[in-house]
Amino acid sequence: MREAVEQLLLPAECLLCRALLSFRDAARLVCDVCRHRWRPIRPPWCARCGQPEPLFGRCRVCADWPTAFGVARSAVWLEAGARDAVHALKYGGLPRIATDLAAAMAGLDVPGRESGLLVPVPLSHARFRDRGYNQSERLARALGRRWQRPVVDLLVRTRDTAAQTALTPEARLANVAGAFAMRNAKCGMRNEGQPGNSAFRIPHSALERPLILVDDVFTTGATLAEAARALDRAGAHTVSAVTFGRAVVPDFT
Ligand SMILES: [Zn+2]
Ligand SMILES: [Zn+2]
Repeated sequence: MREAVEQLLLPAECLLCRALLSFRDAARLVCDVCRHRWRPIRPPWCARCGQPEPLFGRCRVCADWPTAFGVARSAVWLEAGARDAVHALKYGGLPRIATDLAAAMAGLDVPGRESGLLVPVPLSHARFRDRGYNQSERLARALGRRWQRPVVDLLVRTRDTAAQTALTPEARLANVAGAFAMRNAKCGMRNEGQPGNSAFRIPHSALERPLILVDDVFTTGATLAEAARALDRAGAHTVSAVTFGRAVVPDFT
């Protein structure tokens, strides 16, 4: 309802460059030109984490990932317009832009996209309350419509984590350690302070399906690796991940 009203009130112009949107694109927030400016991430890349770094020896990005975490892929580099689009999704109060971002992610090839379940990376309760929605869940739903895969909220964030800016990959892993848990993992106990979970039960068969974590941005992969670790502990067989953007990782050496 709110989105329908928003669509009527907002002029049909591109959120990023303000060009008028064609009638065909009226349901979108980003014009063709801006979408084509998003720079896709292309191989050669690390077969596991999808990081197109020059690879010598073992990949530093995914070396410490849990075994169950197989493959991660991102659609575009997080720069210029792509960064603005993520900003609009997270802070601009425009969850509708998830449709545009998911369109860019639709071609990502990860195990389970034909048969798996999409699992949004959860927000802490405080951030969820401030924002009113979880941007990763909106992305997962938009991608799920394209891939025709169900979205299952398997995870909760058990604590807030410090801002991840300027931490090394190792520090980032330590920062998010233990930040996720399965929703209602302890038979029927409520995870306190989490919204909307009172009657939720996870069918155990869900863990036997390939699981695909969905998040907006991949920086060092630490958050996704920790989320994958929580799924792994609960007995998940295979976990992959997709994100819209990938940060150009600074050189920590
Ligand atoms: Zn535009
Ligand atoms: Zn790697």
